[in-house]
Amino acid sequence: MTATAPKRQRKSYSKTPSKKRATQTVLDLGQKTLGRRAECTICGLLYVVGDAADEAAHARRCDAYRRGARAARLECADARKVADVGETARVVEVRPTDARSLRAVVVEVRRTAARDLGAPPDEEGERHTAYVAVERGRAVGLCLVEPIPTTNTLGVTALWVLASQRRRGLGAALVDAARQRFALAGPVPRADISTTHRTRDGAAFFEAYGAGRVYAPR
Ligand SMILES: [Zn+2]
Repeated sequence: MTATAPKRQRKSYSKTPSKKRATQTVLDLGQKTLGRRAECTICGLLYVVGDAADEAAHARRCDAYRRGARAARLECADARKVADVGETARVVEVRPTDARSLRAVVVEVRRTAARDLGAPPDEEGERHTAYVAVERGRAVGLCLVEPIPTTNTLGVTALWVLASQRRRGLGAALVDAARQRFALAGPVPRADISTTHRTRDGAAFFEAYGAGRVYAPR
């Protein structure tokens, strides 16, 4: 079991089960946590305590949540590099048509970002082009975009930077990279960005950035 619990279930899992059965009492005497389903309060993963595969999956997920998903594959994909950020970070592009090995990294980054932003896992992210900020083998930022032909704008569906890496220009570098790549002649103007955000920080970022259409939470 490696599924992330739906949001409304989160609280109930951290408390004792509501149904008290005789077997439960017996188990509690010797093996207090073994075999119990637990939800990590850091990364949000629901897993079975004591199950080796689950524990390993959780260790990977938790590590990705705290330090960024492992992204060495993206870091060495030179053909996909869009820009350098400072001396140690770079922005890498991954398209929906790219090799599975590259897209697999993006799936993990999307998961980390969704958890961090309090958003449900986005199944639609598969068809978006991803810009990933990579540093020392870790994915520390993500921007998902799609062209919106009807309004002739660039739709930014997600922008996320690892908490410890904020305020160093990674967010702007990611959006700059997207504008640069999506242009037919010169970068997409900032005013032609259309974006919706769950967090006020996200909306504030795009307003300051000069995006034309910013839809913020109420
Ligand atoms: Zn965890």
